[in-house]
Amino acid sequence: MHITHTEASSLIHIDGSRGEGGGQILRSALSLSVLLQRPLRLSRIRAGRAKPGLMRQHLACVQAAAQISAADVEGARLGSTELTFVPHALCGGSHHFAIGSAGSTTLVLQTVLPLLLCADQPSRLSIEGGTHNPMAPSVDFLQQAFLPQLQRMGADLDLQLERHGFFPMGGGRIVLQARPGRLQPLSLLERGDAAGIDVLAITAGLPAHIGLREATAVADHYGLRRERLQPVDLGPRYGTGNVLALAARFANVTEWVTRFGERGLRAEQVAERACRELDGYLAHNGAVGEHLADQLLLPLWLAGGGEFTTGAPSSHLQTNADVLRQFGAAEVEICPQGGHWRVSLKSLAAPGHSR
Ligand code: ATP
Repeated sequence: MHITHTEASSLIHIDGSRGEGGGQILRSALSLSVLLQRPLRLSRIRAGRAKPGLMRQHLACVQAAAQISAADVEGARLGSTELTFVPHALCGGSHHFAIGSAGSTTLVLQTVLPLLLCADQPSRLSIEGGTHNPMAPSVDFLQQAFLPQLQRMGADLDLQLERHGFFPMGGGRIVLQARPGRLQPLSLLERGDAAGIDVLAITAGLPAHIGLREATAVADHYGLRRERLQPVDLGPRYGTGNVLALAARFANVTEWVTRFGERGLRAEQVAERACRELDGYLAHNGAVGEHLADQLLLPLWLAGGGEFTTGAPSSHLQTNADVLRQFGAAEVEICPQGGHWRVSLKSLAAPGHSR
């Protein structure tokens, strides 16, 4: 690939093995490369994972970012551990991406959402693949926990789940409508008044009693009334899947915990794991849960800054902060404060595209 002298002088080199050493470094680096108009060379991609290099989901992230930014790309193939990415533009409008496996649609969405918020026109994005994947935000998490915070910051967004997609069958579909606009800084230091816990238990191609038992076990743990339980049986047309989600609702934030049923794991055990995870959040009193914390950093950067409280910082949070620092995009402080942690972000470089 030919790189001009000007492009070579602003090229940034990111080592994908640092910190968490997973796909998140790739996604954040792609977003920042486009928005800061910095050509990117990424090496040792996902070196921290058992199967390093680009998997199908990561490749879809590269292709989606490349399409929206009219980028020249070298190394975009399955298994690749090196990538050169040179963005040239920022094109909103209508885009469709098919991951071609049960790879996470939501992680592709999170890669390009910052771009669409800075694009020249409104966008409609449809993505096909998995909608409920272990180790990734579910589409419900985005709708209930992540996007509401962006909407509080002023983002004009709508996300619809058109079809569920579970591992390994995939075939799910989500559609995002996004209008570009400047985000306002977020200050999320307190949860606000508690509004109770809701339970969503989804089964597909499995006996419906599994979801009912999971929901009942959670209700027993927290003393919930039956109206707060939502068992959803999708029938056999989506392959097999079982997702248990707990929503702890507060005035300022919703914490959304997701657990997946597994062969050999009883419904009550799935419920117990979900409750344990939610209990961990309820115990620390920070506003933001573990997963939302690392995912809020890029939106905060887009807004010029912001702050939130959370529990003990995860390595995803530390790693995402590290990527922002390497781009010179933001100062991020993560400090202990009275039983929880306070994350403060100050943008040092604004997105280079006009809105
Ligand atoms: P890899 O295979 O390299 O781990 P990846 O791209 O799937 O690739 P990570 O780099 O580990 O994954 O990033 C996973 C992202 O998914 C993080 O932002 C993390 O917060 C988020 N995530 C993981 N589990 C959940 C969950 N249960 N709810 C919400 N978000 C989640």
